[in-house]
Amino acid sequence: MSPILSAALIDSLFEAPGTVLTGIIFSAMAATMTALKMGQGPIWVFVPLLIVAGAVRAFDLRRYQARKSTLTAEEAAQWQQRYQIGAMIQAAVIGLWCSVTLLVSDDAVVHMIALSVTTGIVAGAAGRAYGRQSIFRLQAVLMFGPAVIALALRGTPYYIAMSVVCAAFLMAVMQLSANLHRIFMRAVVAREREAALAGQFDTALNNMPHGLCMFRADGRLAVMNHRFSEMLNLSDDFIQQGARAADIVNACVVEGSISSASGNIILSEIENGEARDVITTDPDLARGRSLSWTFQPMAGGGAVVLLEDVTERRNAEAKISHLARYDELTALPNRVNFRDEIERLLRFPHDADQLSALLFVDLDQFKQVNDTLGHPCGDQLLCAVADRLREMLRPEDFVARFGGDEFVVFQQNINSAEDAAGLARRIVDHLSERYKIDNHLVEIGASVGIAMTSAGVSGDTLLKNADMALYRAKADGRGTFCFFREELAQIVESRRVLELDLRKALANEEFELFYQPLVNLKSGKVTTCEALLRWNHPVRGTVSPIDIIPVAEDMGLIVDLGRWILRKACMECMKWPEGVSVAVNFSPQQFHQRDVLSEVRYALEISGLPAQRLEIEITESSLLRNTQLTHDVLSQLRTLGVRISLDDFGTGYSSLSYLHNFPLQKVKIDRSFLEGIDSDRPLTLLRGVARLSADLGMSVVVEGIETNEQLELISADGTVSEAQGYLFSRPVPAVRMRQLLNASHGRRASEDQLVVVTSRSIA
Ligand code: C2E
Ligand code: MG
Ligand code: MG
Repeated sequence: MSPILSAALIDSLFEAPGTVLTGIIFSAMAATMTALKMGQGPIWVFVPLLIVAGAVRAFDLRRYQARKSTLTAEEAAQWQQRYQIGAMIQAAVIGLWCSVTLLVSDDAVVHMIALSVTTGIVAGAAGRAYGRQSIFRLQAVLMFGPAVIALALRGTPYYIAMSVVCAAFLMAVMQLSANLHRIFMRAVVAREREAALAGQFDTALNNMPHGLCMFRADGRLAVMNHRFSEMLNLSDDFIQQGARAADIVNACVVEGSISSASGNIILSEIENGEARDVITTDPDLARGRSLSWTFQPMAGGGAVVLLEDVTERRNAEAKISHLARYDELTALPNRVNFRDEIERLLRFPHDADQLSALLFVDLDQFKQVNDTLGHPCGDQLLCAVADRLREMLRPEDFVARFGGDEFVVFQQNINSAEDAAGLARRIVDHLSERYKIDNHLVEIGASVGIAMTSAGVSGDTLLKNADMALYRAKADGRGTFCFFREELAQIVESRRVLELDLRKALANEEFELFYQPLVNLKSGKVTTCEALLRWNHPVRGTVSPIDIIPVAEDMGLIVDLGRWILRKACMECMKWPEGVSVAVNFSPQQFHQRDVLSEVRYALEISGLPAQRLEIEITESSLLRNTQLTHDVLSQLRTLGVRISLDDFGTGYSSLSYLHNFPLQKVKIDRSFLEGIDSDRPLTLLRGVARLSADLGMSVVVEGIETNEQLELISADGTVSEAQGYLFSRPVPAVRMRQLLNASHGRRASEDQLVVVTSRSIA
């Protein structure tokens, strides 16, 4: 049993001191009267006994009533015991007095006095001791049991009948007390539950994140939680005062928690009696805090008002919606924002007679800046570009960042395409001026594609057209601008078809490798054969790798394609004489894939080709990116035994530092060096590069030898070790190369002479 419940039960025992006192007085008086009437000594004994027992109980009752603190469980048990002892003694004395009186006297008046007083006291006890059934039952039996027995013992029919009636009365009184006990228990349990519920409700109310107040049907405040008063700087007295909504709102306005305009809205919503949500920003928009008010009418009248501080949420929402529409880095509008805006401007132009243009701006060499100086510098550069673009535009123009190094400008109210061209020119010039970023002087370029608006054109079409024009501008050599023309769409379309075809080509096995020999100039032997890609297109015929590789790179197909080429070339090399190696071209993207090393290892493993017979040709652009990483990969390949040649030297930066800084074994001088070789300057240059490379321990190859004169010129000073070109052989299919090599190998073995494979010997 809970402590509250047992305290309530003990309380009920001591609750009605009046009936106890009445019982004591009446029982003492009745005993006195019976003693007087009977004139017999023994009955007098009961008078002092009843007075003493009564006085002790009365004293206990008073002490209990005077107690201030709430009962502990132990104290409750002690009080119950005291009550029980007192009640039992008193009951026993009354019972004894009544039965003795009934047995000893024959006086009917005496009998009536004894029986009626005892009956009254039992009834009084039933109304008082119902809290503890065990006590009451014992008490009742002790008081009334002897009287029932004494009546029966008198033996006459009337007395026996009286005895039965009294026994029935005793039972009825016990039942009555049991009923009272049940009712009392129910009430106590319900009260306990209510108290617990009220406590929980109070805790919940004062710990909820929302402020809450509740108005009764008469418009007065019934509940206001702590959060509500705290949020609005109100005192908690309003509940005691039973304040009205208007009083509370006025107090809020006086405190400066809300503006009087908001106060009016809140009051009218409470009076309105409809469920509503209202957000106020108080005390003013600039330094405001946003409060969300929820008004909910109650069934029997009155209303509940919920209050929430939504300032942070609103700020976060505003930030998210800003992030969703603006580029975080440059704070320019983003793609989504731009598209919405442009659709709006196209639908409702400022001046219908005027033209507009969309300029797609793409930075040239931005990637190199990112790769060489790092992303933080790249970010600063993009911000600087955004600033320059902003400076150049008029208020009615609109610029956005489309991601990466792409920006888009919408130029409104222009008279002709020449105005757009003027802006494009200024953009290219201004963005190409030097930037100073973290003590680095950075130079980049910009290319611009322009699409002019025309009637009914959509934003998406404009963007697509400007993008096509940009593609053209880049193809035209970058650092320039280009207008969209209808033919561009066809070019783009044919590129799209090419991409589709390329995707299928690998699966359909339409690719083939041709091989072209590299000849050692001293020995005249074929040292290496370069694998060159060919695409046997069902409609276009043989497609050059120059058309395939850039597209495959853009599509990301180059990695799969490169893997196929590498494996195929390694397997083919296994069919050649042992002294001949294979050279495989790697595009930058393929070279920078994460698992390039394992790709090479795997190709060697499945073909069984010794690493020493594989040469990988990379171009300078492969060395430009991630210098340290590139260096590591090259070193690892070198450790594996694979040789690396630098292809097309002389077409790109031709940086001599690459030759020095990277572990390269071969330099292939591009055939463009041979142009005008008969004049002095290119020959001197070629020989200079060849000597330097040779001095650094690299072998030197010259590509594109077509004539005997060229061969003589480059081999004159002995620095060039190998040559490649149509003079020796054009690239030929694998079968042909196999025959050629095996034939020359056999001849060499039998005739012990060096064989130069020439175009004539192939023919
Ligand atoms: P490259 O690696 O410099 O290959 C040499 C190119 O010069 C070949 O063109 C070859 O046919 C051509 N050539 C060789 N000797 C002469 C000559 O005496 N005169 C003239 N005019 N040309 C000569 P091809 O096969 O059209 O390949 C062009 C480029 O495509 C290659 O230049 C290479 O960069 C790339 N490429 C070819 N195959 C692959 C490949 O499998 N993977 C990758 N990533 N690129 C490849
Ligand atoms: Mg090559
Ligand atoms: Mg080359």
